[in-house]
Amino acid sequence: MSVKGFLIRHVQWPLMERLKENRTRHYLRELQDAQDTSPPQLIERQREKLKRLLRHAVHNVPAYASFAAEWEVSRVPPEHFLQRIPVLSKAHFRRHANEYLTKGIDPTKLIGNRTGGSTGEPTRFYLDRRAVERYEAARWLGLSWHGIQIGDPCVMIWGSPLELNQHQARQYRWKERWLKNRLLLSAYELDERRLDTQLALIRRFRPAYLYGYASALYMLAEMMLARGWTVGIPLKGVVSTAESLHEHQRKKITEAFEAPVINEYGARDGGIIAYQCPRGRMHAFSENCYLEVVDPITNLPLYPGESGALLVTDLHNTVMPRLRYQLGDVVALSSQTCSCGISYPLLETIDGREDDMFISQSGKYVHGHYFNHIVRNMESFRTFQIIQHEPQYISLKLVKEPDRFQPADVNRLLAAIRSALGEVSVQVTYVDQIAPTGSGKFRYAIRECPLTSGQALE
Ligand SMILES: [Zn+2]
Repeated sequence: MSVKGFLIRHVQWPLMERLKENRTRHYLRELQDAQDTSPPQLIERQREKLKRLLRHAVHNVPAYASFAAEWEVSRVPPEHFLQRIPVLSKAHFRRHANEYLTKGIDPTKLIGNRTGGSTGEPTRFYLDRRAVERYEAARWLGLSWHGIQIGDPCVMIWGSPLELNQHQARQYRWKERWLKNRLLLSAYELDERRLDTQLALIRRFRPAYLYGYASALYMLAEMMLARGWTVGIPLKGVVSTAESLHEHQRKKITEAFEAPVINEYGARDGGIIAYQCPRGRMHAFSENCYLEVVDPITNLPLYPGESGALLVTDLHNTVMPRLRYQLGDVVALSSQTCSCGISYPLLETIDGREDDMFISQSGKYVHGHYFNHIVRNMESFRTFQIIQHEPQYISLKLVKEPDRFQPADVNRLLAAIRSALGEVSVQVTYVDQIAPTGSGKFRYAIRECPLTSGQALE
């Protein structure tokens, strides 16, 4: 056990609780208690929280004031009442953000946050400290399922923190290292020439786990495997976050780091939503959020097992409640229970972002996974990126696998794209690598046009 980890757990955290009234560990204990109760009890607890949030929102938040009279006479359960409230798109929220702020709240006393905006305008929103601490608690609970504790040393493979000057960046790194026991490695610095230096840094720090974007971890894993290198230290796990984790990525990451890959599902504007358990299933933190899945066009609710647009209602953000917030991801809920013994409900699948969903000439939706699956089954390409600029206009970037490239694979790939999307025009270019987006993520499928004619799904 590391001394620093011990001090963080047993000295620093109790001090933060005493001096700064940090409640993360208190919330962690609440979440731990809840995971051992029965699923019907969990539903009841969630219903009570949702009722409190709705009561607060209709009486104190201008955007929901028109529902106040209806709420007063309503006899339906809160989850049914919630369905009367329109789905909140990011675009609508961005235009009317001020109406979602609780009356009488001073925004300067709150924690301002915003999404990275890698695929559009950033969304700005406010939280209070308590909501952030509840997200933190959810993350620690998920990590605890894999034997990882508060204070355990962690190497983060991350995009550079936004908007920091040199002095702030130094301060940030210092805080990460000494107060949180985390070493930050930038996803931008992961290149082949510096691989041995990066691995030496990781070895010297001796992390209990790694934490980073799926694509960045995957890239690092591929570089290591190509050279036959390993980290050479036992890891409790490699936590993948912020992007969908694909099966081929999971395999390579597991192989390179000789450790299980743990999937964290969350979003800057949605909190920590779900975590993978040791049985490999994704459990949603129903104590923190209420989830719905609806058809992305009609907004009608879908059954468990059916993929659709995820709507998130954060049960504790009372300073700026966003009810039925459409996060931009395609997921399916599940009605099954897990054999691991954790009562939190399951997500059946997390298919990725709505932006990764393409539209065919006949109006059918095709998920970016489809193209990924085809390319992965060919040996000719190391990686690729497909962009739908307009429904009929596609560009395709390909990175060749030098020794295995066969020109016939390009035609097979084009045929597969056309069989899914119809007679589209595809401009093919060959590149040496696919650059990450501004936030350091690597995206292989991007749709730039609206999903339906004239109606953008944001
Ligand atoms: Zn489980």
